[in-house]
Amino acid sequence: MKKNYLVFNSQHIWHPYDSITNPLPCYLVSSAKGINFKLNSGLNIIDGMSSWWAIIHGYNHPLLNKTLINQSKKISHIMFGGITHYPAIFLCNELLKILPKKLNNIFLCDSGSVSIEIAMKMALQYCNLKKNNKTMFLTIRNGYHGDTFSAISVCDPKNSMHKLYNKIIPKYLFAKQPKLSFKEKWNNYDIYSFINIILKNKFKIIAVIVEPIVQGIGNMTFYHPEYLKQIRLLCNMYNILLIIDEIATGFGRTGKMFAYQYANIIPDILCIGKSLTGGMMTLAATITTKEIAIKISNNYPYKIMHGPTFMGNPLSCSVAKKNISLLRKNIWKKQINYIEQYFKKKLFFLLKHPRISKIRILGAIAVIECYNFINLKLIQKFFINYGVWIRPYKKIIYLTPPYIIKKFHLNKLIKSITYAIKDNSLFFF
Ligand SMILES: *Cc1c(COP(=O)(O)O)cnc(C)c1O
Repeated sequence: MKKNYLVFNSQHIWHPYDSITNPLPCYLVSSAKGINFKLNSGLNIIDGMSSWWAIIHGYNHPLLNKTLINQSKKISHIMFGGITHYPAIFLCNELLKILPKKLNNIFLCDSGSVSIEIAMKMALQYCNLKKNNKTMFLTIRNGYHGDTFSAISVCDPKNSMHKLYNKIIPKYLFAKQPKLSFKEKWNNYDIYSFINIILKNKFKIIAVIVEPIVQGIGNMTFYHPEYLKQIRLLCNMYNILLIIDEIATGFGRTGKMFAYQYANIIPDILCIGKSLTGGMMTLAATITTKEIAIKISNNYPYKIMHGPTFMGNPLSCSVAKKNISLLRKNIWKKQINYIEQYFKKKLFFLLKHPRISKIRILGAIAVIECYNFINLKLIQKFFINYGVWIRPYKKIIYLTPPYIIKKFHLNKLIKSITYAIKDNSLFFF
């Protein structure tokens, strides 16, 4: 191979949600540290994305690195069937410390989408299809739960990028998207569509599955905690399980350890992923109650029929354990609060610009919604030239920086957005 790595890359390697014949530009990264990564050109870039909500303590974290190296000297991988190991045990013990007491049975798996698959399997098995004819899942429009087929079946069927596959996806139930935002005055009308569907289908619904408070990829909206509270009550009333997808929101991002805590509820099944390892490597988990776990397990000859090859990978588990013990020192609350206050102080003035329709801020998430669709290819280049990494989609520019980010870098991220929205060439008309 000659040294034209980017050409090789574009000819042979798929990138997320992209094309092989006409791919979006790619930037070659050589290393990363803290909130920066370095391009092969030598340019230092500030990461405003935490690599898709994952790298919460920054790149190349010395303690996480050390943990990984130490574990690799003991054992990097071993099958989980018939074997267990300290990293899995210590991680699960650490997880129990930050979870409600009720949620205490943990299934370790590879990625967020897979944890959703397992959650849906668990719910289905708990309902024991032989004794009733529950065949439906209920969710709300505009949701996102991953890219595997069952996960797609509960993603928004119209708005999502998955409509291509709709023909072979089971048709589940979708309530209207919540309209009231996080801080608005609550009004019950917001949840009428959801209630109507429950009333009409109460004997068919296996589980409700939702992202808590923040609808991520959908449109980055923050719905009212009361909505989630009422979902919990309705599920209790009609004996329907509640699956909460904290894959993006978990581990402090919204200002709570888990976003469902804004509604003071406890899910029956919880999915976590993304920042579980501090973004170092891939790991996710599906966590449920003893009661559900027992019922699934007692339904002879059925058990949970899932067992990824890399289940409970010791390297991932040891890093995840360290990540959570870092979080348990509780500095994240201060960090998130600082970022939130800074966003609030510096971003709202952008509303004066005719391009901007809405600004939303919750915890360390800032969303700048434009009236126009954004030209990703050009705006990405614009941001790179400015020394920042921000990856907008549709009409949304958003920031989810690493928790360790400081004023100087926050300021640079915000400035870059301020300049970008003034540039007509970066938007479609
Ligand atoms: C990213 C994400 C997933 C999917 O996780 P992967 O690790 O990409 O499979 C599921 N749900 C939500 C809310 C997510 O943000």
